[in-house]
Amino acid sequence: MTGLIEHTISPLRLTGNINRLYVTSDFGSRGAGYHHGIDLVGYDGTLRKTDVIVPIAGVVTRNYWSETVGWVVHIKHQTIITRYYHLEKQSALQIGQSVAVGDLIGPMGSTGSTSNGNHLHFEVRDLTDSEAQDPKPWIRGEKTDGKAPEQPENGGQETQPEKATPYLRLPYRNGSTREYVYSTTKEALAGDNSIGYLDPHQSGNYIARYDACPVVVYHNGISNKVGFVKYEGGVPIKDTAKLVRNTYQNGSTRENVYATTKDAQEQKNAIGYLDPWQKCDCVGRFEAYPVVVYFNGTSNKTGFVRYEGGLVY
Ligand SMILES: [Zn+2]
Repeated sequence: MTGLIEHTISPLRLTGNINRLYVTSDFGSRGAGYHHGIDLVGYDGTLRKTDVIVPIAGVVTRNYWSETVGWVVHIKHQTIITRYYHLEKQSALQIGQSVAVGDLIGPMGSTGSTSNGNHLHFEVRDLTDSEAQDPKPWIRGEKTDGKAPEQPENGGQETQPEKATPYLRLPYRNGSTREYVYSTTKEALAGDNSIGYLDPHQSGNYIARYDACPVVVYHNGISNKVGFVKYEGGVPIKDTAKLVRNTYQNGSTRENVYATTKDAQEQKNAIGYLDPWQKCDCVGRFEAYPVVVYFNGTSNKTGFVRYEGGLVY
């Protein structure tokens, strides 16, 4: 089947209006041949070129040129190998480099004699790099890499992962004075250690409310930034009750938390972290980075993370 596909993981960076994945050619028999992967583009009502990113953490095993499929990268994961064809140019990733979800592989392209337009050819193979699998169950999150937690909180009972509810963003509008922004509700309530501020009448997105403090995402001139504020921004409390809190579960490694999407992208200036398998709330997603709210032992804290945490968007 060609057309839109629901995704839990995405090998394309989906940001802004280009927030859906579109399959232009499916896995399996195709004419006289066999298609060992699926062809993907971004979608915002029309087909779009986007960046190719790492959908599952792993290690880069190949980065080479092929006459037929152009610039290629292979990534080895715990249980599979993924392949990325037709990249616009050679990837900057190094062989042996560990990569995290969201890392840039390279811009989508149309290199190689078998490509007839910008798209990503995405393949999933077993660890012997021989047999190709249908990538769609991986994209949908029906198949996942790595181990599940050994001692789940429910005592080992099988549970289906909950499907995330689409997030709401309410329009926040600051009042006539500067409004300071904080990483934790404790600091917001005390007015200590602000990490930024909204100018008078500046707009933002109101995405959650904890301890009577709104969680606001706003543009600081460089990047999207998230934090708690004290002022409600003109949004009625009854409307904030409709905001969505999904459950986020971290994977097997520590996950850093960042105040801005730029810091998340560059993996700089982490303001905290989630422990392996830690569960918390996820209250939004900006530029492919989930916004989490977690308890840091003292207070609720918010920030962006890089890992999708098993959520369906
Ligand atoms: Zn293909």
